[in-house]
Amino acid sequence: MRAPPVGYISAHEDAGPETSEVMVVEREPEVLVVGAGVVGVATAYALAERGQRAVAIDAGAVGEGCSYGNAGLIAPSSSMPLAAPGVLSQGLRWMLDKDSPFYIKPRPDPALVSWLLRFRAAANEQQAHAAVPLLRSLKLAGRKLYDRWTQLDGMDCDYAREGVIHVYCSRAGLAEAEVMARRFQTDGLPFEVLDADALKARVPNLRGGVAGGVLFAGDGRVNPAKFVTRLAGLAEAAGATFLERTEAIGFTTSRGRITAVETTKGEFRPAQVVLAAGAWSPGVVRDLRLNLPIQAAKGYSLTFHRPEGYLDIPLLLAEAHAAINPIGPLVRVAGTLELAGMDFSINRRRVAAVRRAGGQYLEGFEELDLIETWRGMRPCTPDGLPIISRTPNWENLVIATGHAMIGMAVGPVTGEIVADLIRGEEPGFDLELMRYERFA
Ligand SMILES: Cc1cc2nc3c(=O)[nH]c(=O)nc-3n(C[C@H](O)[C@H](O)[C@H](O)COP(=O)(O)OP(=O)(O)OC[C@H]3O[C@@H](n4cnc5c(N)ncnc54)[C@H](O)[C@@H]3O)c2cc1C
Repeated sequence: MRAPPVGYISAHEDAGPETSEVMVVEREPEVLVVGAGVVGVATAYALAERGQRAVAIDAGAVGEGCSYGNAGLIAPSSSMPLAAPGVLSQGLRWMLDKDSPFYIKPRPDPALVSWLLRFRAAANEQQAHAAVPLLRSLKLAGRKLYDRWTQLDGMDCDYAREGVIHVYCSRAGLAEAEVMARRFQTDGLPFEVLDADALKARVPNLRGGVAGGVLFAGDGRVNPAKFVTRLAGLAEAAGATFLERTEAIGFTTSRGRITAVETTKGEFRPAQVVLAAGAWSPGVVRDLRLNLPIQAAKGYSLTFHRPEGYLDIPLLLAEAHAAINPIGPLVRVAGTLELAGMDFSINRRRVAAVRRAGGQYLEGFEELDLIETWRGMRPCTPDGLPIISRTPNWENLVIATGHAMIGMAVGPVTGEIVADLIRGEEPGFDLELMRYERFA
């Protein structure tokens, strides 16, 4: 066997006891990406494409965090931040309802209290006015990357651009949606209002009782787990390395720089570090004394076998706050938002409510064959915008987290922005609203 180059160390244990091949791990990569969800994988790919030596580590397996079982909508049509006007008062009313799509677990946690205060301050018209165009342009740029990347060899991931329908039970809701669609209409967001009959003709499985819907023909959908793992394959082919079951457990610093990242599989001494650990991020960087106001917002999805011809377009159910996505041979319903900390327990009552939402809108839904019940933690900032930023504290760190409900759609463009920041290049986006310092 050829001797490993300087800066590389063999990691026999990673190859497994049965394997004679020795896996060689680079200990001094140009970039170490912490976390291999959609954001970390897209970052590793964008870096590898630009010729940077990147190693991405994950405490678990690639793409098994929040990027695994989410709804998979690549929908620029839905660009309202979580901190939208009226959300908090509605949320507080929902707190009393155990089946509601929103829940805050009451607990004496100063980080939660401070997050809620910031959330309340951000949930206003003025903030939404600034956030919506930014989120929409990030999503449109993300969708372009999906269009491009899913054409590459080995990227079969059930990506389709056949539109998404926002469904409304109330006439007032439908009318308001039409006004919003007109207000935010751009070339990338053509829409069509469907009355109840037109909607039923487009979605024959739909039950009666809905007022209508707005079809955004340019929206897309994907199988998230397939997309992330296949993109990791492309990144590997382009020169990136992925190390699973490799957890970052601490940092060594000197004079405003991270000099080493300690992991459960030994120490790395990268030139630059990217934090892409989703909802885990605040805990991961505890050593670095950063103020990352991110709360984990748990959501659920249920995935079923999709019978031939059953539902061929994703639905966003406005009143139920749930999404139903036909993904290749599967159909998935997803919803709920629980601010309960990093508590991965499954609340069966809320899972049942998500399933019921599907049944309330679609005929035959209750009879579908369940394959998987999943929960995931959305990484939520209080103003609903991600943090894609360097910090004043550590000159060789880039933060890429806080993608809340939009990470699947925006992950690819985040990867590109981070790669540009790492290389000192102009990212082509105004990053002001996503700076770390807005919370410092
Ligand atoms: C029910 C539901 C539906 C959703 N639907 C959509 C949708 O339709 N469209 C959309 O755009 N978004 C959707 N989202 C949001 C989207 O899933 C997230 O925004 C996105 O997956 C976040 O990606 P990430 O890479 O930041 O985090 P993750 O995918 O969670 O990745 C973080 C990774 O970091 C790793 N990690 C943690 N700690 C460490 C450590 N110490 N060392 C190394 N690795 C570590 C974890 O193991 C994990 O793999 C949905 C979310 C939920 C819950």
